[in-house]
Amino acid sequence: MSTGIDMAPLTGTAEEPVLEAVGLGKTFQVSGPPTAGGRRKVVAVEGVDLTLRAGSTVALVGESGSGKSTVARLLAQLLPPTAGEVRLHGKPVHARTGRQRRRYVGEVQLLLQDPFASLNPIHTIRYQLTRVLRLHGNRADHRPTEEKLVELLTTVQLHPAGQFLDKYPHQLSGGQLQRIAIARTLAASPSVLLLDEPVSMLDVSIRLGILNLLAGLKEQQQLGTLYITHDIASARYFADEILVMYRGHVVERGPSESVTQHPAHPYTQLLIDSAPDPARRGRDANEIGGIGQGGGAASAAAPTGCPFARRCPYAMPVCLSQMPAVSEVGTEAEGHRVRCWLNTPETAGEARSPRH
Ligand code: SF4
Repeated sequence: MSTGIDMAPLTGTAEEPVLEAVGLGKTFQVSGPPTAGGRRKVVAVEGVDLTLRAGSTVALVGESGSGKSTVARLLAQLLPPTAGEVRLHGKPVHARTGRQRRRYVGEVQLLLQDPFASLNPIHTIRYQLTRVLRLHGNRADHRPTEEKLVELLTTVQLHPAGQFLDKYPHQLSGGQLQRIAIARTLAASPSVLLLDEPVSMLDVSIRLGILNLLAGLKEQQQLGTLYITHDIASARYFADEILVMYRGHVVERGPSESVTQHPAHPYTQLLIDSAPDPARRGRDANEIGGIGQGGGAASAAAPTGCPFARRCPYAMPVCLSQMPAVSEVGTEAEGHRVRCWLNTPETAGEARSPRH
């Protein structure tokens, strides 16, 4: 049973793709019981397609273990894929070493969630930024290094810059450190920023300031941005397109407004119900196996049915035996797609009331 539609990214926008993932997959071999030969396979990511364009943001949303950070590491070339490929400016990226790898890493920068761990504690901020400028900086920019350092810190709204350059990471707050980490990614003159939960370890009071900074940089520097988060509310604010991941699969994707206002997959509905909203009087997310129950973890074996079936209150017999087909939500031009049997005419009639 198939609709002939796939989970391909949105098309039709003016900008050419900068970075693409095509059918990206990653399977890990981990130790297992002796009866299985001492090894077993864990499918962390399967069949992920996404496209990053200059000046726009794609959000990858899901709970811990859904595979979203693995996608970031595959795109950053920190892990080799076991299926599919990554394309930079339309050209496939193969395992790179030496100068090729350095060029790729300069162009595709990864910002990690923990600013305390991402900076070297034994070097000053000046040393760490200067090193990136030397390794990956724009070779056509012949201005003195000091001038570039001041510009970088001014760009991330740390001024006067002289107050920060000769400090060590432990002398700065979490918010200041994350701004330094952002400045370090910019020092490489990237085309792409991969943001892996960039505000999740910061105080709530400073998260919005960092997100506003990143949104401004994306516009000014025309960066293709991937925003990884478990918080679908911030994805709606920050991203143009949302991809919802569950157990390594993209289960719903589309324009941010459409996915958050008209979620079609029960898991997306769960994420939205779990976001804090005192005004909402809908059902409690816990009623359908709420967030934080560990259900998003990568699957130990290839699922034969829907990966969400065990938690889904609408599960039908077909859900347990067949991976759901992809179908459109609304018109094809809207680009809102879902992988759920509830949305296909052949099986929607079998749906029953939610079980509690
Ligand atoms: Fe639930 Fe079935 Fe849809 Fe999966 S395919 S989300 S189990 S209704």
